[in-house]
Amino acid sequence: MSVLVESIELRLVGIPMTRSLRTSTGVMENSKTTVIVVLRTSEGLKGFGESAAQGSPTYSEETSYTCYEVLRRHLCPRVLGRAVFSVGEFVDGYRDVRGNQFAKSGLEAAFWDVLSQQSGVGMKTLMGGTRHEVEVGEAIGICDSVDALLAEVDARLREGYKRVKLKIQPGWDLEPVRAVRGAFPECRLMVDANGAYHLSDSRVFARLDSLNLMMIEQPLGYADIVDHAALQRQLATPICLDESIRSLEGARQALQIGACGVINVKPGRVGGVLEAIRIHDLCMAWGVPAWVGGMMESGIGRASNICVASLPAFSLPADMSPASMYFESDLVEPTFAVEEGIVQVPEGIGLGFEVAEARLQAYTLASTTVTE
Ligand code: MG
Repeated sequence: MSVLVESIELRLVGIPMTRSLRTSTGVMENSKTTVIVVLRTSEGLKGFGESAAQGSPTYSEETSYTCYEVLRRHLCPRVLGRAVFSVGEFVDGYRDVRGNQFAKSGLEAAFWDVLSQQSGVGMKTLMGGTRHEVEVGEAIGICDSVDALLAEVDARLREGYKRVKLKIQPGWDLEPVRAVRGAFPECRLMVDANGAYHLSDSRVFARLDSLNLMMIEQPLGYADIVDHAALQRQLATPICLDESIRSLEGARQALQIGACGVINVKPGRVGGVLEAIRIHDLCMAWGVPAWVGGMMESGIGRASNICVASLPAFSLPADMSPASMYFESDLVEPTFAVEEGIVQVPEGIGLGFEVAEARLQAYTLASTTVTE
């Protein structure tokens, strides 16, 4: 059975946020801008996907605004009116477009939704997911004081989250991490620098190395793997790469030079679910643990990420904050729940969640429909 895409609706959306997250690259805006892709087929099916880049280019070069434009001008026209039989064929339609991974990932996610509906096979099963539930950890931003941080960690652990990730930056590293380790000696703890350090800062990491951390995420430059390999040789704690891994090729090169011992896989950052699955398979072959990260997607983006996170080699807790942690309200109704640090994997057809279309409309900042 083939799928013929007839039209693609793009929505640039702003979801009001009730709290913010501070990382080494800055504070998130007070609204989450994201792009929702609505794909319609000749059979009358409708699939949803999300390109969840940020409003500003401080995580990657892409923003929600570049996603919207690249989808409108370059990606959507390449997939309209072409009958395709598989995700691989669909993605081949825009293989000549370089980069723009987040933009591509939203389009591909909408196709998975349609494919699941057309085939009557659940999205999790289509993707090769095996788990019924996924363990979730929580990321805690840079706080105003160590006391505030300890209170936050305590609250999250009481809620049952399976690991705690502390955002760090120069000047907010050893002292807060030691304090948390001292107060919670048993907790599964990791840090994420979002690329804020240089190889010359390796003394900080030598000290963090003795604090029994699960991993140190993206300590050095956002596009680097060479210096990460040098740093990894000095540390017993595994380095986890996030920003630096943009593709299967990039992941293979990082593993080959020993730049990391763990990979954080975000389908958006690597161009879509298909590439995320390929990186998953690579990690499995190498015996390298991996996990699924998040970009504060709405429930639409989370739905497919949860299915991806149910693949077997994603053995470490995922970043999957419930929408209620940051958003005024979600784009799916009901939103997904995290209970005792566990999220249930949708077993149904398609997204597995009902899109709240009135709210999607209310939060829309701009929209357009691309047809042949
Ligand atoms: Mg990260």
